[in-house]
Amino acid sequence: MKQTLLIKYSEIGVKGKNRYVFEDMLVKNMKSALKVVDGVYEVRKASGRMYVNCEEKDLDEAIEALKKVFGIAWICPVSQYDRLSMDELKAAVLKHMQETYPSLEESTFKVNCRRVDKAFPLTSMEVNEEIGGILLDAYPQLKVDVHKPELMLNIELRPYDVNIYSKQIEGLCGMPVGSGGKAMLLLSGGIDSPVAGYLMAKRGVSLDAVYFHAPPYTSERAKQKVVDLAKIVSRYAGPIKLHVVNFTEIQMKIYEICPHDELTIIMRRFMMRIAEHFAKQEDCLGLVTGESIGQVASQTMQSMVVTNEVCTLPVYRPLCCFDKMDIVEISEKIDAYETSILPYEDCCTIFVAKHPVTKPRLDRIQKSEKRLDGIIEELYQKALETTEVIEI
Ligand code: ATP
Ligand code: MG
Repeated sequence: MKQTLLIKYSEIGVKGKNRYVFEDMLVKNMKSALKVVDGVYEVRKASGRMYVNCEEKDLDEAIEALKKVFGIAWICPVSQYDRLSMDELKAAVLKHMQETYPSLEESTFKVNCRRVDKAFPLTSMEVNEEIGGILLDAYPQLKVDVHKPELMLNIELRPYDVNIYSKQIEGLCGMPVGSGGKAMLLLSGGIDSPVAGYLMAKRGVSLDAVYFHAPPYTSERAKQKVVDLAKIVSRYAGPIKLHVVNFTEIQMKIYEICPHDELTIIMRRFMMRIAEHFAKQEDCLGLVTGESIGQVASQTMQSMVVTNEVCTLPVYRPLCCFDKMDIVEISEKIDAYETSILPYEDCCTIFVAKHPVTKPRLDRIQKSEKRLDGIIEELYQKALETTEVIEI
């Protein structure tokens, strides 16, 4: 008997001819997730599913690691055999039950046999009945319920392996990271942008990130917080190249020259320009922000028209229709929340106006920005040149 994890995936299953590309990507991501767990695990593909061989390894640790891999719908701890006669199957089922449920409470059950190996002498129906019979004998606390059983005992009779399993652990679903191209995440120290990055990664998009800091107005600790958040996102999204841009001089210049109620919006246009510069340099196919419609003045639809205008790449805003409560829920689920709420200063809040425009007009903003012509270019260039890159 082999202790194995059966990995079922959802959406990859419906891919046509290039399904193997997604599968190979998933295998690669599973292997790298398992690298951090002690021991060597074998990952193998087998007709529309995967197996992780966990012999003598810590199953729970492996499961925990795989629960962070996008593309996996279910993780099933399986007792796996090469081939079994009916008598051997009965013994194997009883062994599986004893090991999986050392003290089984009263519950309903169903046996669900799939006979792929047509050479097996009994039909699925017959296996269901016989195995159901021995379970009822062995466990008086069990009752059959074929519609909504609490315990589903699955038996798969396949030509080269027989699988017995009854537990299914939910995976994250989504698509394997890397199968969807790469995007540049504008990562701040807040709650929203790490969640936005996580959701993009869920659709198979790998990430690089850019953070704007404003020393000495923002501290080293504020920067470290962003590094920590990038590490949390990278548990799901894989390696991230974080660009830390020194934004102080640009911000000061805007503050000095432009109307204060337009500060945030003009500043955001510069952020987008710089983010796009690095996005193109890193072969990213889009920008990602944590904006949500109406959350603050700079996130009204009107404001987004104005910030978007400086970008040529698509800007993805996966949270645009999320309420804050729902964003917080995901933030907690991915263990980012505690870090996100640490009270360090943010570059946007330092120079913020008391009454920012909520419905900026593009022509007016462009006109205000014109005042920076001939002054800002040098600072912009300097910001690009002094950007620090941190590999996460
Ligand atoms: P978050 O919780 O992600 O900080 P927020 O609610 O504070 O978002 P804003 O400050 O308006 O909202 O920022 C909107 C988006 O702009 C952020 O989600 C992020 O993608 C980007 N952003 C804001 N500040 C920075 C920064 N200092 N560095 C990088 N990106 C930033
Ligand atoms: Mg913020």
